[in-house]
Parts: sequence; C-alpha cells; structure tokens
Amino acid sequence: MSNTPERPSRFPLPLGKLVKGQAAGSTGGAAREVLMPQRHLREAAADAARQSAPRGLGLDSDMVRRRMVQRLQQEGLSDERVLQALITVPRHEFVDSALAIQAYEDTSLPIGHGQTISKPSVVGRMIAMLFGGATARQQGRLGRVLEIGTGCGYQAAVLAELSRQVVSIERLRPLHDKARLNLAKMRSPSQIRLIYGDGRLGHSQAAPFDSIIAAAGGEDLPPAWLAQLAPGGRLIAPMVSPGGRGQILVVIDHLVESGVSRFVRTEHEAVLFVPLKSGVM
Ligand code: SAH
Repeated sequence: MSNTPERPSRFPLPLGKLVKGQAAGSTGGAAREVLMPQRHLREAAADAARQSAPRGLGLDSDMVRRRMVQRLQQEGLSDERVLQALITVPRHEFVDSALAIQAYEDTSLPIGHGQTISKPSVVGRMIAMLFGGATARQQGRLGRVLEIGTGCGYQAAVLAELSRQVVSIERLRPLHDKARLNLAKMRSPSQIRLIYGDGRLGHSQAAPFDSIIAAAGGEDLPPAWLAQLAPGGRLIAPMVSPGGRGQILVVIDHLVESGVSRFVRTEHEAVLFVPLKSGVM
C-alpha cells in the first residue's frame, strides 16, 4: 500500500501513520459513499475480515520487523550484518499462525513439543559474537556453520544469510520435519542441510566448522564439538553455569599458534535455553 504509484507523495510515511492507515483503510476510498443493500454490506464485511488477517500481516510484516530490529539496535545490537539478516528473515513464518502477531516482540515463543524459538535479541547477540572468531573476523562471514537444535528453523535461516553453508541438527523428528517445511518457503542465499540426529555428536561428515552455535544448554561441552571446530573457528553455547544455578553463554575459540592448537574459553552473560538432551525422539 505504501508504494502504490498514485500516492507517491505519501512515502515514506512515519511508521505509526502507516499502521493506522492499513488497519482502518481497507478500501482506499474512505470518502466515497456508496449505497449498498444490507446483505451485500454484510458479505463485503465478511470478505474483508476473511482477507484482512493474513494479508494485513503480509503487508506490514516488513515494517513491523524493521521496527523490532530498530529496537534491538537501540538496546545495543550494533553489528550491521546481523541487523540486516534479522530484517530479511520473516520470523512470523516460523511460528504457528495464532502466534504470528507476537513474532516481532522480543520474546521466545512455543514451537511445540515443549521447545521454543529463541528471542530475537539472543539470536542476534549470539550470532554477533560468532563474528568475533578469528576466521569470521578475517572473512567477514561465518563460513561453514554447525547449529545444534534446529527447532523451527528460524535461526538456521538467519545464519544462512551470513555464511557459506549451514548444517543444522535436531533430535525431535516432528520439529526436524517442521523446519524442513518452513525453510522450503525461504529463498536462503546459502545451502542449509538439516540433519535428524543427536547434535551432541556434531556432524563429522561435514566437519570442520568455522562456527558452531548451540540453541540448547547442557552441563558439559560435548567433545565432538571441539573436535569439529576448525582452527580459527569459534563455538558459542549456553551451558549450565559452573555453580550449577542457571545458564551462561560460553565461547570457545580454537586458536593455533606456531602450529599448536589451543582452545580458549570465555564466559558471558546469563541466559535461559531449553536443555540439551541426548539421543533422538
Ligand atoms: N534455533 C531454534 C531454537 C530451538 S530450541 C529456532 O530458531 O527455532 C532448541 C532445540 O534444540 C529444540 O528443538 C530441541 O529439541 C533441540 N535439541 C536439544 N537437544 C538436542 C540435541 N542433543 N541434538 C539436537 N537438537 C537438540
């Protein structure tokens, strides 16, 4: 609606104004008075109501998403590449339609089977931290990425905007299938491989990875993740904090100096993720 040719002077609009216009002005000809029989009016209203929910969200989802990303930026997320990826990926397409209206609030939402899609601010923060790894800093991209916990596929789609390849593992079959459906609708710029399996084992066939990101928190770091982290690579994962109370974000850098590998661990802020479990279901 904002870019219809007959109203060029009204673009760009202040955000609030556009929302109001869309909510109220479904016909675009509000001043015209047309006499219609009651029955036709009722039918027209019913038609409009049927169409307006999905179409309304489709029309303004870009704008609502931009506003959410603006808020994340105001709250300190400063990496332009990550902000752009969050603007590009339509989060509402990854949740049930009944929750789509909440997709652009900074909250986690249920995706079924006791799991949740992570908060956009946390997705943004973790991916921005991945860019601090040696290889990612050098290349300005995340390279080959391993994600543990595909869930609904949202974070995989964001990662795909910023990397060469994403391999994402999910242990719950219905969610693996759901992510496949969700991602089939997207036009991701890089390849996303979805694996049904136990992410604690990583995916040795596609290793090594420049970036590894876990969306579920465990008590220990599975040895396979370290084994599959490329030299210069960075891993980020929520982990049960050393004191056993709550979770924190842990970063591991795989550094190589004079041909010798070492893993450097740093601990960051408190977070709240679903538990990392073993085996598949
Ligand atoms: N990145 C997801 C977040 C999903 S929540 C998204 O954008 O929607 C975390 C997911 O990790 C859950 O789906 C859970 O089933 C999965 N998970 C937990 N332990 C796992 C494991 N060992 N291997 C693979 N997936 C696991």
